[in-house]
Amino acid sequence: MAHRVTLIPGDGIGPEITAAARLVLEASGAPLEWEVVEAGEKVIPEFGTPLPPHVLESIRRNRVALKGPLTTPIGHGFRSVNVALRQELDLYACVRPAQTLPGIKTRYEHVDLIVVRENTEDLYAGIEHKVGKDAAESIKIVTREASTRIVRFAFELARREKRKKVTAVHKANIMKFTDGLFLACAREVAAAYPDIAFEEMIVDAMCMKLVQAPENYDVIVTLNLYGDIISDLAAGLVGGLGVAPGANIGDAAAVFEPVHGSAPKHAGQDKVNPLATILSGVMLLKHLGLNEAAERVFKGVTAVLREGKVLTYDLGGNARTSEMAAAIAAQIA
Ligand code: NAD
Repeated sequence: MAHRVTLIPGDGIGPEITAAARLVLEASGAPLEWEVVEAGEKVIPEFGTPLPPHVLESIRRNRVALKGPLTTPIGHGFRSVNVALRQELDLYACVRPAQTLPGIKTRYEHVDLIVVRENTEDLYAGIEHKVGKDAAESIKIVTREASTRIVRFAFELARREKRKKVTAVHKANIMKFTDGLFLACAREVAAAYPDIAFEEMIVDAMCMKLVQAPENYDVIVTLNLYGDIISDLAAGLVGGLGVAPGANIGDAAAVFEPVHGSAPKHAGQDKVNPLATILSGVMLLKHLGLNEAAERVFKGVTAVLREGKVLTYDLGGNARTSEMAAAIAAQIA
């Protein structure tokens, strides 16, 4: 039976990179059926919002989506359209793997880690206000429920992916109540997974150690703000935004998307790197249990990178987005 997947092309470079990913995923032979729905800045004139209800309904119905980046229009109600989508669907776990890929020049070899970021609270809950004219305040929310569920998610992921260690990242030495609660929950959950090593790390030390020896880390689980920063740091270790895939996962739905944004200055030029979206597609296939297809796509990607002939500008080549996708699809075939 085919799996129905919501496909949101998105804004800016979104349509080019999602078309590239679709071509490659179809070449894998995976039984996917696409339901294409438009969201983002481009639908505001028609629907009055970048996130019309039928888009959310489509994702709720299919439970799985592949999404291009959405531009957050300045001064249009939403703090961020992407944050709104994650909150609406309670996509509480943001999963961002960072893995060394062949043929991509970086200072590091053997990086293979996954950042699991809590997606619903912390300073990103958006509870912020001015206090008088010259001060402002933002409230950091941390709950037992969300902390326990994200750490449990990280351990379950570790088990499924046969990972050896989970590192919980915090700043509980300063934020004794909020980060202290997160850390206490992490310790409690860790005790139920004796087969997986558990380690605690203060966020500043984590950043230094990731730069010094990223190969020592496996699954990292952390609060929303630290997770945002650490996952970009991790992307930088393995070649940057062009190769950084991601997923936002909840109990009712999962949305797979590149970490990068809509890069409006490159839109319509068929030049950006499609790998972040293609690798998000690999995560989607695995999520659906289509592991062989996922493996075929991943091998196609690494074969093209190893050959080093058809690469986009950010990887030192001059191939078009569509040429790179076609080369990967040909490898898979
Ligand atoms: P961006 O990630 O869109 O682009 C920053 C720069 O990174 C680009 O100018 C380009 O040089 C490089 N880059 C990004 N993707 C690339 C790719 N695939 N290949 C090669 N180079 C690539 O960040 P921004 O300019 O800060 O944001 C633009 C818009 O995207 C904003 O409206 C922002 O809100 C939105 N955004 C959306 C998402 C999302 O949908 N999940 C994420 C981040 C930003």
